[in-house]
This record gives sequence, structure tokens and C-alpha cells, in this order.
Amino acid sequence: MSFDESSAPAPTGRCTGQAQSRRRELFPEATDEQWSDWRWQMRNATRDGSALAKKLSLTLDERAGIEETAAVFRLGISPYYLSLIDPEHPFCPVRMQAIPVKAEARKRRGELRDPLGEDPKRPVEAIVHKYPDRVLFLALDTCSVYCRHCTRRRITHGGEAELNKTELAKGLEYVRTHPQVRDVLLSGGDPFLLSEERLEQILAPLRAMPHVEMIRIGTRIPVCLPMRVTESLAKLLRRHAPLFVVTHFNHPKEITPEARRACELLVDHGVPVENQAVLMRRLNSDARIITELSHECLKMRVRPYYLHQMDVAEGLEHLRTPLEAGVRIIEQMRGWTTGLAVPHLAIDLPGGGGKVTVQPDYVTQRRPTETVFRNYRGEPYVYPEPEETDCSCPYDEVWRAR
Ligand SMILES: *Cc1c(COP(=O)(O)O)cnc(C)c1O
Repeated sequence: MSFDESSAPAPTGRCTGQAQSRRRELFPEATDEQWSDWRWQMRNATRDGSALAKKLSLTLDERAGIEETAAVFRLGISPYYLSLIDPEHPFCPVRMQAIPVKAEARKRRGELRDPLGEDPKRPVEAIVHKYPDRVLFLALDTCSVYCRHCTRRRITHGGEAELNKTELAKGLEYVRTHPQVRDVLLSGGDPFLLSEERLEQILAPLRAMPHVEMIRIGTRIPVCLPMRVTESLAKLLRRHAPLFVVTHFNHPKEITPEARRACELLVDHGVPVENQAVLMRRLNSDARIITELSHECLKMRVRPYYLHQMDVAEGLEHLRTPLEAGVRIIEQMRGWTTGLAVPHLAIDLPGGGGKVTVQPDYVTQRRPTETVFRNYRGEPYVYPEPEETDCSCPYDEVWRAR
């Protein structure tokens, strides 16, 4: 790959200063070499309340949250992600995603352990097969940072047996014997916590199946552990193209020079990167924030894909927004900014119905001969219907028979 680093636009640099100085305060002994080594980051992750209390002054709500969620869900924060936390503000978006509060320990009415109804659709432990032509492949149950908004916490909380070699083999066998599966979405847990050797052991057999047209990998590594994205990882992924990385930035504060380097390295090597954000109340539930997030993503060639309505998983009600809030955000983006910046607002239906998308309603009147719209500025426009309505394609039989 002949990419010249010096010709790349300068990183935005917005949090560097703060994050760098926090790094020195939090991990004064860490050398640059250690800091940029993802295994060092994993070994030095903060995994319990007392370790966290030594690094940060915690609020009462956080102290109670850590204690009360200890038996419910793992705590884990990479040194890098910890260094992005604003030590002064309890509503820092990085902080809210990494440190539990009391509300997380509470189960509310209607909240579900398996909010997306996945367990009945797991023919083998590693596979969720919900849609006709694609499957979710759960590769492992660990993460670099345990998101407080995790919706698969029943899998990542540590109680399930780790997905071992036998289960992975069964998952691969399932895909191999189901020719209708043309798209495999590898997730977990975070697949990029696997060694390159283990990752290869999953990707190579998938790629060798003629019916698997494309692979996607869902990961938070560019956000929470960007040093894991090495040139050799990027090259490995490129070998298995078409392979898309789907990452999970939720706030522009997470788009640091390190995160940007990770995403650009992937894209430079020919691995497209998409972003799925989750809408969270008081964290990013504002059109200005989502718009800035989208712009910052596009600046590093990451394409906004979904904006997810929060699932009804146990302990997450405090982070849920009313449906209307998401629709209003999309309304404040569509037309006002680059179409590529506008994500699909998706709701994964409780009980296993799958994802549906919702959008603002721009239709104000439907008549047989015309439809009246309001445009993004609220002005009325008319679209007339054509006289002919037959939409069948005469060449299609020839095309199908080729
Ligand atoms: C989200 C999801 C997919 C992928 O859905 P797309 O709309 O194709 O991105 C596949 N399987 C499961 C179980 C999912 O939750």
C-alpha cells in the first residue's frame, strides 16, 4: 500500500491535549511503546470499583452503580478510553458509557434479558439467524471496554460459557450448510480482541464458502482500543474482501487522533468502515451532536449507517429516549446536511421482530394523481403520478436466464 502519511490531512486534534495530559496523570509509568501496545492496554484495563476510585473521583451515584451492578455486568475500561474521561463532569459522554450508575442496577417494567429475542433464533450457540439471507456470528464474549449500554449483556456479562473452539466450529458448519446465508456479521464480544491467528481461523473458512458473498465485523476497537488496529490486522482484513468493518462511535469526543488513525488505516488498506451509533438520553440525544458525529466520521471516511433507538434491555431505561426524539434528530439533518451524513434511525423490535427504520413523514396529502410533500424547510411541493403504472421489467427474464 503506497499511502503517504505526510499527505494526509492533519488530525482534528480536538481532545489530544486533554487526553495526553490525562494519560500522564493516570499512567505516568507507561512508555509510549507500552501505551501503543494493545495487549499492554488490555492487561492494564481498570476492572473493578476500587481500582477505578484510585484513578477518578467518583460520584455517589457512580459508587452505588459500581457496587450494585457488580453481580450483573462486567466492568472494564482500557487505559486509553479511561484517559478520554472528563474527570470533572458526570455527564461526560465517555464517562457515561464506561462507568455504571445506580439506575443500571434497576430492572424496569417491559425490560427484557434478551431484548431482541435472539435466544430462540440461535440454532447453535455462536449463530443468531433472524433474517433470511444473513446471520450474526458471535465470535467471543469479551470486550476492550464494557459499554454501560450493552444490549447483549446476557452474553458479555461473563456468565455464559466462553465460545470455545467446538462452538466456533459448529457456527462455521452452520454457515457452510446454509447456502441462503450470503452475509455473515461477526460480532460478540469484540472480534478484534482475537489474535490474528484466531481471526484468520474464522475468516478463512467463511471466505472459502462460495455462498458467503460478504463479511461484516462489528467492533468497538477503533473507539476504545484503537492501537489494536495495526497494519498487519488491516492487511489480514483486506485479504478477505469484501469485508466491511462496522464500528460504534457515539459522540464526537471519541473521534481522537488515535481513533482517526485506526479508521484511516483500515480505509487506506481497502477496508470500508461504517458507523452505528446508539441514541442515548443526555449523552448524544441532540441533533447538533449527531450531526457533528456524522461530519467527523465522514472526515475520516467512515460512513454513518444506523442510529439505533436504545433496546429495552435490563437496566437501560435511564438511557432511552422517546421515539420522537430520534425522528426529530433525523428531521434536523435531512436536507440540512450531506445525505451521506444522515443515518437510518433503526429500532430493533423487542421480542425478535428484527430492525425497522423510521423517518420523519414528509407526505402531507395522498391523492390518486399526486402526492403533496413538505420539503425539509416545511414548504409544500407536489409530485404528480405517471399515467402508466406497470412496473414489470421485460428484460428481467433474459437477465435471470443468463
Ligand atoms: C442487525 C442484525 C443484522 C444485520 O442487519 P442489517 O440491517 O443487514 O445491518 C443481522 N442479524 C441480526 C441478528 C441483527 O441483529
